[in-house]
Order: sequence, then C-alpha cells, then structure tokens
Amino acid sequence: MESSPRKKSHLTRNIFIALVIAIVLGLLLQNQAEILNAYVKPIGDIFLNLLKFIVTPIVLFSIMGGIISMRDIKRVGEVGVFTIIYYFFTTSFAIIIGLVFANIAKRFFPLIATTNLEFALENQVSLIDTLVNIFPKNFLAPIVEANMLQIIVMAIIIGFSILLIDKSKQAKAIEAIEIVNDINMKAMGLILKLSPLGVLCLLMPVIAENGPMIIGSLASVLLVAYLAYAFHAAIIYSFTVKTFAGINPVEFFKGVAPAMMFAFSSASSMGTLPINMKCCEELGADSDVTSFVLPLGATINMDGTAIYQGVCAVFIASCYGIDLTLGQIVTIVLTATLASIGTAGVPGSGMIMLAMVLQSVGLPVEGIALVAGIDRIFDMGRTTLNITGDATAALINSARLRRKGKIA
Ligand code: ASP
Repeated sequence: MESSPRKKSHLTRNIFIALVIAIVLGLLLQNQAEILNAYVKPIGDIFLNLLKFIVTPIVLFSIMGGIISMRDIKRVGEVGVFTIIYYFFTTSFAIIIGLVFANIAKRFFPLIATTNLEFALENQVSLIDTLVNIFPKNFLAPIVEANMLQIIVMAIIIGFSILLIDKSKQAKAIEAIEIVNDINMKAMGLILKLSPLGVLCLLMPVIAENGPMIIGSLASVLLVAYLAYAFHAAIIYSFTVKTFAGINPVEFFKGVAPAMMFAFSSASSMGTLPINMKCCEELGADSDVTSFVLPLGATINMDGTAIYQGVCAVFIASCYGIDLTLGQIVTIVLTATLASIGTAGVPGSGMIMLAMVLQSVGLPVEGIALVAGIDRIFDMGRTTLNITGDATAALINSARLRRKGKIA
C-alpha cells in the first residue's frame, strides 16, 4: 500500500502521542479503572474487531498472492524453508535468553511456596493435537473461526494449485486474486487511520487497572521478562538485520516503531499484522515476501512468548522452592519453542500454552495463578517482540532474494 513518508511520520507520531497520553492518563486514573473498562475499552475493542475482521482475508489472499507472484514452486519452498528455520533459531535463542536472565535473577524472586493456589485451564490441548489441528478438515471453518494456521495451509494449497493449472485460466485467477488483495489493502488503510484512537482506548484501561500490581511483588519477574525482551531485540534482531539485510538497526527499529507501539497496546500479533506489513514495505521489504512471511510469522513465530514462558517457568519453580535440573531446562527449551509455535497471535494465548511447558517438566500448573493477574503486561511486551521478529524475517528474506537477483 503506498503512502508518502510524510503521512507515515504522522501516523508514527500520532500513535506515539496516543501511547504517552494513555500511560499518563492510565496512571492518573487508577481509581477509575472500572469506568475506563466500561466506557473507554469498548472503543478500543471496536478498533481491534475491525482489524481482526480484515486480517482473515488479508492472510488468505496475501499468502496466495505471495505464492502466485513468485511464479515458481521451488522459490516459494525456498523462502518458506528459510523462514521457518530462521524463526526456529531465533525462538530457540529467545527461550535460552529468557532462562539465563531468569536464573540470574532467581534470588530476587519471592518464595511463596503456597499450596492453596487455584487455577483452572479450559481448552487445554496436547502437542499432538496442536500439530494435527494445523490441517483443516473443512473449507469454511478455518475462516469462520479465524484459525490462522489452518488458513495458511489452505492458502498454500490453493496458491500452489493455481500455479499448476492451465496458463490461460491461471492468468485469470491471478488477476482476480490481485484485485481482491487491492481491495483488502484499501480497507486495511481505512481501518489503520483509526490506530491512534485504538491505542489510546486499549492501553489506558490496562495501565489504570494494573498500575498498583506492577509495583507489588511481581515487579521482579516483570522486570526480568522486559529486560530479556529488550536484550533479544537489541542484540539478536540488530545483529540479524545488520548482517543479513544490511539495514542499520536504528533505522530498522525506527521504521517498525508504529507496529511495535501498536503491538504493545493491543497485545495481538494478528491485529498488528496490517501495520507491520505497511512498516516492512516502507523499510524496503518486497510486498510478495511480506505477504507470505509476516502472516506466517504472526502465526508461528513468537520469540517474546518463548522468553515469557522461560522466565515464568523459572519464576513459578522458584516460588515453590523447586530447583530446575539441567534436563528440565532442556525440556523447557524444546517445549517452549513448540508451545510458542502453537500460540495463537491473540491476547492471552501465550499464558494458556505456558501450561504445556509447566506440565512437561512436572511443575504445578496452578502456579500460573501467580502471574495470571498481570498477564496482560507480560503480553504487551511479548507481542511487541513477536512482531518485531517477524519484521526481521521479511526484511532478511527480501534482501536475500534481491541479492540473488530474484526480485527487483
Ligand atoms: N499475544 C501474543 C501475540 O499476539 C501471544 C501470546 O499471548 O503470547 O503475539
């Protein structure tokens, strides 16, 4: 979607102003949290609903469009395989960073050693179910349920099939998909104009409600998670964009800032997808690559979630006075990587998947109750990191293909 640099800087500036106002007002109105939740949050929810509404057609058609525009099945496979390997490695690093930070800070965690915690999880799914559920058994259900992994599988199958049909029919199919993509992008542009208002109305109630708790005993674990998020972004992403995409990290973070601010406010990778696409394209990512790599990333690449799961696993163990063995730590690395893949890019889903990580090493699942009250605050940071990681992949892939002369 084309937009002038002037327009872009206005959006960035406006989102930033909205973010600052939301934090200041949220802190000032701490005793009005109920009123803010009743009257301000719904406006933010309307905006988030609109984003979610447009995300399903964007993912479906832009992945199809991305596959078709590469024209060649081998190239799609190459981008896909490279992206998945890149996502896997950065996520593994993320969980290791989370575990290292949490282990260093362990002695500051409180020993709560409580036995009367209660936390019931609904809809818990096993690892095998998560894998089987990637494949749709119905054409409409994935769209109706906005099941992104299934939508991606659908888009890949249909996109590939279009490349295999008769050339004259193929041209018509490509044109139709391009038209639908254009319409989606226009609709997205209209909705994005509301993002400063969305940021303000989503964030203010969260700050008002959580302010006092952040200052309480959970400050240590929250701080550790945020330090690990920041470290991962500053070290790993700076290194990858500089080395593999030749982009100055400061330019990168500046360019992706609107998407980061939006992710912070909405705690939804999926909701942030449209803004992230726009930011990456403005940073020079190829739109065909972006439309394939970013929806995939928003669905399976969750570095922030992996860090959060590592930090919380150590925190919960330490609250119960349990010392994790090396074997347990290795298991956490593996399950948190897989759990983050299975985490949906919507608010709060990382916490559900934390149960899988805790169970894999025999830690009490009720321990989630210790962090559940401030999950939203963890979530804002982890989502910000999640979408930043996706953006690095879009830029690195574009630079790779450009070097190979495969895109302009
Ligand atoms: N909210 C996160 C996201 O959308 C997922 C999570 O809960 O960890 O990326």
